[in-house]
Amino acid sequence: MPKPSSLVQGQTRPGFSTLAVHAGESRQKLGDSITDPIICASTYTFESTQAVIDFIEQKLPREEYGRYGNPGERVVERKLAQLEGGEEAILYSSGMAAIVGLLMSKLNAGDEVIFFDECYHRSREFCSKHLSRFGVVTRQVPACDYRAMEAAITPNTRLLVSESPTNPHLSVVDLEQFAAIGKDHEIDTLIDATLATPYNLRPLDFGVDFVLHSATKYLAGHNDLLAGVIIGARDKLEPVRKLRGILGAINSPHNIYLLERGLKTFELRMQRHNENGLRVAQFLESHPRVERVYYPGLASHAYHDVARRTMTGFGGLVTFLVRDADWRQTADVVDAAQVARIAPSLGGAETLIEQPLVMSYYECSPEDRRRFGIPDNMIRLACGLENAEDLIADLRQALDA
Ligand SMILES: *Cc1c(COP(=O)(O)O)cnc(C)c1O
Repeated sequence: MPKPSSLVQGQTRPGFSTLAVHAGESRQKLGDSITDPIICASTYTFESTQAVIDFIEQKLPREEYGRYGNPGERVVERKLAQLEGGEEAILYSSGMAAIVGLLMSKLNAGDEVIFFDECYHRSREFCSKHLSRFGVVTRQVPACDYRAMEAAITPNTRLLVSESPTNPHLSVVDLEQFAAIGKDHEIDTLIDATLATPYNLRPLDFGVDFVLHSATKYLAGHNDLLAGVIIGARDKLEPVRKLRGILGAINSPHNIYLLERGLKTFELRMQRHNENGLRVAQFLESHPRVERVYYPGLASHAYHDVARRTMTGFGGLVTFLVRDADWRQTADVVDAAQVARIAPSLGGAETLIEQPLVMSYYECSPEDRRRFGIPDNMIRLACGLENAEDLIADLRQALDA
């Protein structure tokens, strides 16, 4: 169980599933329904001009227009804030929309942002190709190199960013050190904890300022929707929410319904993802055709100690290298899988398999792939909710083929 949080009004924190099922919801709902209704409205009516004025003067909490939010979304935002132990959550239509929304809100021309270099390739691309057009400088330093990160700080640095665990190497950031650098230099810190989820890791408890998730993955959990979320202190997030209202990267009421439904089983699903990830990683490590396994739950992993100290479990993502294989022989292993399906993404019920070289880095030069640490014989497996024995049998026949 995640440790109790002092952020829940002086009480012991309710259990994780209790929060996942009930937090953020009204006890009595429209039509006495036990589930939250899907309210399909692009706009919301006011009874009178005075009601409009009361709303603008923030005397009357309610909805106004669909681009600024909808009732279902508020429920899920409260639920996610409580699961993460934060004050406020802001949902977006995708994880990338959340990252772009936060960076656009927090950075001005001349500002600098520092990234640990193992990161989601589109986050890197947004910074290098797009933020740069607006005069924002991005510096990348090697993942988990805290000295390099501190050394890269200038008077213009406004944000320190990392994933934890990172994708696809699953390096685990020492969040105490990471947050301390931010605090020492009065710079905000952001952790993309998509691969961990609040079940396995709660970065705010370590003093990180913002946590971000692609809710598309474990939070929604069924490979059937896209969403993103940022969680942190209310005052720091106020301008971020205002900008979201302009960007329009919001979730439809239908999408939100699926996300809320997915969250009801969040803890149960994470327990299975953690179990499957560990058992599959242990199997792979014992297989003669596997050169190396990246999984924070293995004692052989470079960040095993940090992971054990800070995480409840290690998730469903397992990355491995096929011994003495070129890109084609590696692709043959991927193609031989029968339970695991070839697709990008992770965190859903279905196990997914992919070769990062092909799926995400095909258009990169070999030098860039070397720089990003993506060898030709790398496979990324996102364990779903199937039975571990079946996933292991599937990998065994694919490796032995
Ligand atoms: C998938 C992912 C994203 C992007 O999220 P989308 O919902 O696909 O936009 C960002 N960070 C990480 C770590 C991811 O896995």
